[in-house]
Amino acid sequence: MIRKDDGKEDAAETSGNNSPFLPYGRQWVDEDDIAAVVEVLRSDWLTTGPKVAEFESAFARKVGARFAVSVNSGTAALHAIMRAIGIGPGDEVIVSPMTFLSSANCIVFQEGTPVFADVDPASLLIDPQAIEQRITRKTRAIIAVDYAGRACEYDAIEAIAEKNGLVVVADACHSLGGTYRGRPVGSLAGLSAFSFHPVKHIATGEGGMVTTDDPGYAEKMRVFRSHGVTRDLRQTVRDGGDAHGDDDPSGRPWYYEMRQLGYNYRLSDISCALGISQLQKLDSFVRRRAEIASRYDDAFSGLAHVEVLRTPPGVMPAWHLYVIQMDFQTLGKTRTGVMKYLKTRGVGTQVHYMPVHLQPFYRERFGTGPGLCPVAEKAYESILSLPLYPAMSDRDVERVITAVNDAVQRHV
Ligand SMILES: *Cc1c(COP(=O)(O)O)cnc(C)c1O
Repeated sequence: MIRKDDGKEDAAETSGNNSPFLPYGRQWVDEDDIAAVVEVLRSDWLTTGPKVAEFESAFARKVGARFAVSVNSGTAALHAIMRAIGIGPGDEVIVSPMTFLSSANCIVFQEGTPVFADVDPASLLIDPQAIEQRITRKTRAIIAVDYAGRACEYDAIEAIAEKNGLVVVADACHSLGGTYRGRPVGSLAGLSAFSFHPVKHIATGEGGMVTTDDPGYAEKMRVFRSHGVTRDLRQTVRDGGDAHGDDDPSGRPWYYEMRQLGYNYRLSDISCALGISQLQKLDSFVRRRAEIASRYDDAFSGLAHVEVLRTPPGVMPAWHLYVIQMDFQTLGKTRTGVMKYLKTRGVGTQVHYMPVHLQPFYRERFGTGPGLCPVAEKAYESILSLPLYPAMSDRDVERVITAVNDAVQRHV
Protein backbone atom coordinates (compact mmCIF):
# COMPACT_ATOMS: atom_id res chain seq x y z
CA MET A 1 0.00 0.00 0.00
CA ILE A 2 2.88 2.37 0.63
CA ARG A 3 3.88 4.09 -2.58
CA LYS A 4 7.43 4.99 -1.96
CA ASP A 5 7.50 7.90 -4.33
CA ASP A 6 4.40 9.61 -3.08
CA GLY A 7 4.01 12.65 -0.90
CA LYS A 8 6.46 14.99 -2.56
CA GLU A 9 4.39 17.11 -4.90
CA ASP A 10 3.18 19.57 -2.35
CA ALA A 11 6.35 20.02 -0.35
CA ALA A 12 6.51 23.75 0.20
CA GLU A 13 10.20 24.19 -0.43
CA THR A 14 12.60 22.67 -2.90
CA SER A 15 16.32 22.44 -2.67
CA GLY A 16 18.66 23.92 -5.28
CA ASN A 17 19.28 20.63 -7.05
CA ASN A 18 15.63 20.14 -8.00
CA SER A 19 15.05 17.49 -5.35
CA PRO A 20 12.04 18.15 -3.19
CA PHE A 21 12.60 19.50 0.30
CA LEU A 22 12.22 16.82 2.94
CA PRO A 23 10.61 18.13 6.13
CA TYR A 24 11.30 16.26 9.39
CA GLY A 25 7.77 14.87 9.32
CA ARG A 26 4.53 15.04 7.41
CA GLN A 27 1.18 13.31 6.97
CA TRP A 28 0.10 10.75 4.40
CA VAL A 29 -3.38 11.30 2.97
CA ASP A 30 -4.85 9.04 0.27
CA GLU A 31 -7.95 9.37 -1.91
CA ASP A 32 -9.87 7.02 0.38
CA ASP A 33 -9.14 9.33 3.34
CA ILE A 34 -10.51 12.23 1.33
CA ALA A 35 -13.58 10.21 0.32
CA ALA A 36 -14.25 9.33 3.97
CA VAL A 37 -14.26 13.01 4.93
CA VAL A 38 -16.43 14.01 1.97
CA GLU A 39 -18.97 11.37 2.96
CA VAL A 40 -19.33 13.00 6.37
CA LEU A 41 -19.67 16.43 4.80
CA ARG A 42 -22.67 15.12 2.85
CA SER A 43 -24.24 13.52 5.94
CA ASP A 44 -26.44 14.95 8.71
CA TRP A 45 -23.54 15.16 11.14
CA LEU A 46 -20.50 17.35 11.13
CA THR A 47 -19.68 16.84 14.78
CA THR A 48 -20.56 14.30 17.48
CA GLY A 49 -22.36 11.89 15.19
CA PRO A 50 -21.80 8.18 14.53
CA LYS A 51 -18.15 8.52 13.48
CA VAL A 52 -17.01 9.44 17.00
CA ALA A 53 -18.10 6.15 18.57
CA GLU A 54 -16.88 4.25 15.51
CA PHE A 55 -13.41 5.79 15.72
CA GLU A 56 -13.24 5.26 19.47
CA SER A 57 -14.14 1.59 19.31
CA ALA A 58 -11.79 0.91 16.38
CA PHE A 59 -9.00 2.66 18.27
CA ALA A 60 -9.66 0.84 21.55
CA ARG A 61 -9.64 -2.49 19.71
CA LYS A 62 -6.40 -1.59 17.92
CA VAL A 63 -4.47 -0.86 21.12
CA GLY A 64 -6.13 -3.49 23.29
CA ALA A 65 -7.81 -1.09 25.72
CA ARG A 66 -11.39 -1.30 27.05
CA PHE A 67 -12.17 2.38 26.45
CA ALA A 68 -11.04 5.10 24.09
CA VAL A 69 -12.21 8.68 24.59
CA SER A 70 -11.62 11.05 21.67
CA VAL A 71 -10.71 14.70 22.20
CA ASN A 72 -9.56 17.45 19.87
CA SER A 73 -5.81 17.35 20.58
CA GLY A 74 -3.12 15.40 22.37
CA THR A 75 -2.92 18.31 24.78
CA ALA A 76 -6.62 17.96 25.57
CA ALA A 77 -6.06 14.22 26.08
CA LEU A 78 -3.39 14.93 28.70
CA HIS A 79 -5.56 17.59 30.35
CA ALA A 80 -8.53 15.20 30.50
CA ILE A 81 -6.28 12.60 32.14
CA MET A 82 -5.05 15.04 34.79
CA ARG A 83 -8.67 15.96 35.55
CA ALA A 84 -9.86 12.34 35.61
CA ILE A 85 -7.22 11.26 38.11
CA GLY A 86 -8.01 14.30 40.24
CA ILE A 87 -4.80 16.32 40.07
CA GLY A 88 -5.19 19.63 41.88
CA PRO A 89 -3.30 22.24 43.91
CA GLY A 90 -0.59 20.72 46.08
CA ASP A 91 -0.30 17.56 44.01
CA GLU A 92 3.00 16.65 42.41
CA VAL A 93 3.27 14.76 39.14
CA ILE A 94 6.59 13.36 37.93
CA VAL A 95 7.32 13.92 34.25
CA SER A 96 10.17 13.59 31.76
CA PRO A 97 11.80 16.87 30.67
CA MET A 98 12.65 15.44 27.23
CA THR A 99 9.23 16.06 25.72
CA PHE A 100 6.83 18.49 24.15
CA LEU A 101 5.48 21.23 26.43
CA SER A 102 2.01 19.68 26.84
CA SER A 103 3.31 16.73 28.88
CA ALA A 104 4.11 19.16 31.70
CA ASN A 105 1.60 21.93 30.91
CA CYS A 106 -1.30 19.53 31.55
CA ILE A 107 -0.22 19.30 35.20
CA VAL A 108 -0.18 23.08 35.49
CA PHE A 109 -3.66 23.36 33.86
CA GLN A 110 -4.90 21.59 36.97
CA GLU A 111 -2.73 23.71 39.26
CA GLY A 112 -0.56 20.75 40.14
CA THR A 113 3.24 20.88 40.36
CA PRO A 114 5.37 19.24 37.67
CA VAL A 115 8.43 17.46 39.03
CA PHE A 116 11.02 16.67 36.38
CA ALA A 117 12.88 13.35 36.58
CA ASP A 118 15.92 12.88 34.37
CA VAL A 119 16.26 10.52 31.42
CA ASP A 120 18.56 7.62 30.63
CA PRO A 121 21.54 8.89 28.56
CA ALA A 122 21.39 6.14 25.93
CA SER A 123 17.62 5.98 25.34
CA LEU A 124 16.57 9.48 26.50
CA LEU A 125 13.56 7.80 28.14
CA ILE A 126 12.63 8.65 31.73
CA ASP A 127 14.90 6.78 34.13
CA PRO A 128 12.98 4.70 36.71
CA GLN A 129 15.70 5.40 39.30
CA ALA A 130 15.31 9.14 38.77
CA ILE A 131 11.56 8.74 39.25
CA GLU A 132 12.10 7.03 42.60
CA GLN A 133 14.38 9.82 43.78
CA ARG A 134 11.70 12.43 43.04
CA ILE A 135 8.87 10.81 44.98
CA THR A 136 7.55 12.77 47.97
CA ARG A 137 4.43 12.55 50.13
CA LYS A 138 2.72 14.84 47.58
CA THR A 139 3.43 12.72 44.50
CA ARG A 140 0.25 11.48 42.82
CA ALA A 141 1.20 10.31 39.34
CA ILE A 142 3.98 9.66 36.83
CA ILE A 143 3.79 10.77 33.20
CA ALA A 144 6.08 8.56 31.12
CA VAL A 145 6.81 9.87 27.63
CA ASP A 146 7.54 7.33 24.90
CA TYR A 147 10.12 9.66 23.36
CA ALA A 148 10.72 9.20 19.62
CA GLY A 149 8.37 6.19 19.57
CA ARG A 150 9.84 3.73 22.05
CA ALA A 151 7.74 2.64 25.02
CA CYS A 152 9.27 3.43 28.41
CA GLU A 153 10.14 0.70 30.89
CA TYR A 154 6.56 0.31 32.07
CA ASP A 155 7.13 -2.78 34.21
CA ALA A 156 9.72 -0.95 36.32
CA ILE A 157 7.61 2.23 36.40
CA GLU A 158 4.47 0.28 37.33
CA ALA A 159 6.34 -1.42 40.18
CA ILE A 160 7.41 1.97 41.58
CA ALA A 161 3.88 3.31 41.18
CA GLU A 162 2.34 0.35 42.93
CA LYS A 163 4.74 0.62 45.87
CA ASN A 164 3.89 4.31 46.28
CA GLY A 165 0.21 4.36 45.33
CA LEU A 166 0.69 6.42 42.15
CA VAL A 167 -1.13 6.47 38.81
CA VAL A 168 0.96 5.74 35.71
CA VAL A 169 0.11 7.87 32.68
CA ALA A 170 1.65 7.20 29.27
CA ASP A 171 2.19 10.17 27.01
CA ALA A 172 2.07 7.91 23.96
CA CYS A 173 1.88 10.74 21.42
CA HIS A 174 5.07 9.35 19.82
CA SER A 175 4.40 5.63 20.03
CA LEU A 176 1.04 4.63 18.52
CA GLY A 177 1.54 1.20 16.97
CA GLY A 178 4.51 0.24 19.13
CA THR A 179 4.70 -2.59 21.65
CA TYR A 180 6.40 -3.36 24.96
CA ARG A 181 7.02 -7.01 25.88
CA GLY A 182 4.43 -8.00 23.31
CA ARG A 183 1.73 -5.67 24.66
CA PRO A 184 0.54 -2.74 22.52
CA VAL A 185 1.13 0.88 23.46
CA GLY A 186 -2.22 2.16 24.72
CA SER A 187 -2.67 -0.75 27.12
CA LEU A 188 0.56 -0.31 29.12
CA ALA A 189 -0.40 2.39 31.63
CA GLY A 190 -3.49 3.30 33.64
CA LEU A 191 -4.24 5.93 31.01
CA SER A 192 -2.53 6.69 27.68
CA ALA A 193 -2.64 9.88 25.61
CA PHE A 194 -2.36 10.10 21.82
CA SER A 195 -2.14 12.95 19.29
CA PHE A 196 -3.30 13.00 15.68
CA HIS A 197 -1.37 16.09 14.67
CA PRO A 198 -0.19 15.68 11.05
CA VAL A 199 3.41 14.83 12.00
CA LYS A 200 2.26 11.98 14.26
CA HIS A 201 1.51 8.41 13.12
CA ILE A 202 -2.04 9.07 11.99
CA ALA A 203 -3.54 12.46 11.20
CA THR A 204 -6.95 14.01 11.81
CA GLY A 205 -5.80 17.64 11.47
CA GLU A 206 -5.96 18.34 15.18
CA GLY A 207 -7.06 15.44 17.34
CA GLY A 208 -6.32 13.22 20.30
CA MET A 209 -7.40 10.15 22.24
CA VAL A 210 -7.15 8.70 25.72
CA THR A 211 -7.25 4.96 26.29
CA THR A 212 -7.94 3.29 29.62
CA ASP A 213 -9.46 0.12 31.06
CA ASP A 214 -11.16 2.06 33.85
CA PRO A 215 -14.85 2.87 33.22
CA GLY A 216 -14.83 5.59 35.89
CA TYR A 217 -11.98 7.50 34.23
CA ALA A 218 -13.59 7.09 30.80
CA GLU A 219 -16.90 8.52 32.01
CA LYS A 220 -15.19 11.47 33.75
CA MET A 221 -13.30 12.34 30.56
CA ARG A 222 -16.47 12.16 28.42
CA VAL A 223 -18.15 14.68 30.70
CA PHE A 224 -15.03 16.85 30.89
CA ARG A 225 -14.67 17.08 27.10
CA SER A 226 -18.19 18.46 26.74
CA HIS A 227 -18.62 21.38 29.15
CA GLY A 228 -18.98 19.21 32.23
CA VAL A 229 -22.53 18.41 31.15
CA THR A 230 -23.75 14.95 32.05
CA ARG A 231 -26.38 14.70 29.35
CA ASP A 232 -25.51 13.92 25.75
CA LEU A 233 -26.68 17.01 23.90
CA ARG A 234 -26.46 15.80 20.35
CA GLN A 235 -29.93 14.26 20.26
CA THR A 236 -31.39 17.45 21.69
CA VAL A 237 -29.97 19.44 18.81
CA ARG A 238 -30.91 16.95 16.12
CA ASP A 239 -34.43 16.21 17.27
CA GLY A 240 -35.37 19.71 18.26
CA GLY A 241 -34.99 19.08 21.94
CA ASP A 242 -37.62 16.40 22.43
CA ALA A 243 -35.52 13.29 22.47
CA HIS A 244 -34.70 13.32 26.15
CA GLY A 245 -38.21 13.46 27.49
CA ASP A 246 -38.18 9.74 28.19
CA ASP A 247 -35.02 9.37 30.22
CA ASP A 248 -35.23 12.63 32.14
CA PRO A 249 -36.73 11.65 35.51
CA SER A 250 -38.16 15.13 35.90
CA GLY A 251 -39.96 14.84 32.56
CA ARG A 252 -38.42 18.11 31.39
CA PRO A 253 -37.16 17.56 27.86
CA TRP A 254 -35.05 20.72 27.82
CA TYR A 255 -33.14 19.87 30.96
CA TYR A 256 -29.44 19.18 31.29
CA GLU A 257 -27.09 19.56 34.16
CA MET A 258 -23.54 20.77 34.73
CA ARG A 259 -22.01 19.43 37.92
CA GLN A 260 -18.45 20.50 37.31
CA LEU A 261 -16.49 22.75 34.99
CA GLY A 262 -15.71 21.26 31.60
CA TYR A 263 -14.38 22.34 28.24
CA ASN A 264 -15.29 21.88 24.62
CA TYR A 265 -12.65 19.30 23.76
CA ARG A 266 -14.82 17.25 21.37
CA LEU A 267 -13.43 15.75 18.19
CA SER A 268 -15.71 16.27 15.18
CA ASP A 269 -17.25 13.59 12.97
CA ILE A 270 -15.22 15.05 10.11
CA SER A 271 -11.99 14.40 11.99
CA CYS A 272 -13.12 10.99 13.26
CA ALA A 273 -13.92 9.83 9.71
CA LEU A 274 -10.38 10.74 8.72
CA GLY A 275 -9.09 8.99 11.84
CA ILE A 276 -10.96 5.76 11.04
CA SER A 277 -9.54 5.75 7.53
CA GLN A 278 -6.01 6.59 8.71
CA LEU A 279 -6.10 3.94 11.45
CA GLN A 280 -6.49 1.26 8.76
CA LYS A 281 -3.09 2.29 7.40
CA LEU A 282 -1.34 2.46 10.77
CA ASP A 283 0.43 -0.88 10.46
CA SER A 284 1.90 -0.02 7.06
CA PHE A 285 2.88 3.46 8.28
CA VAL A 286 4.69 1.98 11.27
CA ARG A 287 6.36 -0.66 9.08
CA ARG A 288 7.68 1.93 6.65
CA ARG A 289 8.91 4.13 9.51
CA ALA A 290 10.74 1.10 10.94
CA GLU A 291 12.39 0.36 7.58
CA ILE A 292 13.66 3.92 7.33
CA ALA A 293 14.83 4.03 10.95
CA SER A 294 16.71 0.78 10.51
CA ARG A 295 18.44 2.08 7.35
CA TYR A 296 19.41 5.22 9.30
CA ASP A 297 20.67 3.10 12.22
CA ASP A 298 22.92 1.14 9.85
CA ALA A 299 24.21 4.30 8.19
CA PHE A 300 24.85 6.34 11.33
CA SER A 301 26.02 3.80 13.93
CA GLY A 302 29.45 3.74 12.33
CA LEU A 303 29.77 7.49 11.94
CA ALA A 304 32.32 9.13 14.25
CA HIS A 305 30.90 11.60 16.79
CA VAL A 306 27.35 10.61 15.92
CA GLU A 307 25.18 8.41 18.13
CA VAL A 308 21.82 6.84 17.51
CA LEU A 309 19.22 6.27 20.22
CA ARG A 310 19.29 2.97 22.07
CA THR A 311 16.00 1.10 22.19
CA PRO A 312 15.46 -0.77 25.48
CA PRO A 313 15.08 -4.57 25.27
CA GLY A 314 11.53 -5.80 24.74
CA VAL A 315 10.47 -2.61 22.98
CA MET A 316 9.18 -2.62 19.41
CA PRO A 317 9.31 1.06 18.47
CA ALA A 318 6.74 2.93 16.43
CA TRP A 319 9.25 5.53 15.30
CA HIS A 320 7.80 9.04 15.36
CA LEU A 321 11.12 10.90 15.33
CA TYR A 322 14.53 9.81 14.16
CA VAL A 323 16.96 11.54 16.50
CA ILE A 324 20.73 11.46 16.26
CA GLN A 325 23.12 12.88 18.82
CA MET A 326 25.96 14.74 17.13
CA ASP A 327 28.97 15.93 19.09
CA PHE A 328 29.08 19.33 17.44
CA GLN A 329 31.82 20.65 19.68
CA THR A 330 34.32 17.87 18.93
CA LEU A 331 33.44 18.14 15.25
CA GLY A 332 34.19 21.86 15.41
CA LYS A 333 30.71 22.78 14.17
CA THR A 334 27.59 24.44 15.45
CA ARG A 335 24.15 22.88 15.30
CA THR A 336 22.83 25.97 13.57
CA GLY A 337 25.55 25.65 10.92
CA VAL A 338 24.76 21.98 10.34
CA MET A 339 21.01 22.63 10.16
CA LYS A 340 21.55 25.43 7.64
CA TYR A 341 23.85 23.26 5.55
CA LEU A 342 21.38 20.37 5.55
CA LYS A 343 18.66 22.77 4.50
CA THR A 344 20.69 23.75 1.41
CA ARG A 345 20.76 20.01 0.65
CA GLY A 346 16.96 19.85 0.90
CA VAL A 347 17.00 18.11 4.28
CA GLY A 348 14.78 19.54 7.00
CA THR A 349 15.79 19.02 10.62
CA GLN A 350 14.45 20.00 14.03
CA VAL A 351 15.44 19.84 17.68
CA HIS A 352 13.15 17.72 19.86
CA TYR A 353 13.25 19.14 22.48
CA MET A 354 14.57 21.91 24.61
CA PRO A 355 14.08 20.24 28.03
CA VAL A 356 10.83 21.63 29.41
CA HIS A 357 12.33 22.59 32.78
CA LEU A 358 14.59 25.08 30.94
CA GLN A 359 11.60 26.99 29.53
CA PRO A 360 11.27 30.49 31.03
CA PHE A 361 7.72 29.77 32.25
CA TYR A 362 8.87 26.81 34.34
CA ARG A 363 11.95 28.62 35.64
CA GLU A 364 9.85 31.55 36.79
CA ARG A 365 6.84 29.66 38.12
CA PHE A 366 8.54 26.60 39.63
CA GLY A 367 12.16 27.65 40.07
CA THR A 368 13.48 24.97 37.73
CA GLY A 369 16.63 25.50 35.67
CA PRO A 370 20.01 24.11 34.63
CA GLY A 371 21.35 21.34 36.83
CA LEU A 372 17.94 19.84 37.60
CA CYS A 373 18.15 17.14 34.90
CA PRO A 374 21.78 17.09 33.71
CA VAL A 375 21.38 14.14 31.33
CA ALA A 376 18.53 15.79 29.41
CA GLU A 377 20.41 19.09 29.42
CA LYS A 378 23.51 17.48 27.96
CA ALA A 379 21.48 15.60 25.34
CA TYR A 380 19.82 18.85 24.34
CA GLU A 381 23.23 20.13 23.15
CA SER A 382 23.59 17.33 20.62
CA ILE A 383 20.18 16.16 19.40
CA LEU A 384 18.94 16.59 15.85
CA SER A 385 15.80 15.08 14.30
CA LEU A 386 16.10 13.93 10.68
CA PRO A 387 13.27 13.48 8.16
CA LEU A 388 11.11 10.46 8.96
CA TYR A 389 7.69 9.79 7.47
CA PRO A 390 6.18 6.91 5.51
CA ALA A 391 5.97 8.75 2.18
CA MET A 392 9.78 9.05 2.02
CA SER A 393 11.19 7.05 -0.87
CA ASP A 394 14.35 4.96 -0.57
CA ARG A 395 16.05 7.65 -2.63
CA ASP A 396 14.95 10.32 -0.17
CA VAL A 397 16.42 8.26 2.66
CA GLU A 398 19.75 7.85 0.87
CA ARG A 399 19.79 11.57 0.16
CA VAL A 400 19.45 12.31 3.88
CA ILE A 401 22.22 9.85 4.72
CA THR A 402 24.62 11.35 2.15
CA ALA A 403 23.86 14.88 3.29
CA VAL A 404 24.44 14.03 6.95
CA ASN A 405 27.70 12.26 6.10
CA ASP A 406 28.80 15.33 4.17
CA ALA A 407 27.79 17.59 7.04
CA VAL A 408 30.02 15.57 9.37
CA GLN A 409 32.97 15.29 7.00
CA ARG A 410 33.00 18.64 5.25
CA HIS A 411 33.73 22.06 6.62
CA VAL A 412 30.19 23.36 7.27
C1 LIG B 1 2.37 16.13 19.90
C2 LIG B 1 2.59 15.89 21.33
C3 LIG B 1 1.68 16.33 22.31
C4 LIG B 1 0.54 17.25 22.03
O1 LIG B 1 -0.28 16.86 21.01
P1 LIG B 1 -1.18 17.96 20.25
O2 LIG B 1 -2.14 17.11 19.49
O3 LIG B 1 -0.26 18.74 19.37
O4 LIG B 1 -1.84 18.80 21.27
C5 LIG B 1 1.91 15.96 23.63
N1 LIG B 1 2.98 15.22 23.98
C6 LIG B 1 3.88 14.81 23.06
C7 LIG B 1 5.04 14.00 23.52
C8 LIG B 1 3.72 15.16 21.72
O5 LIG B 1 4.64 14.78 20.83
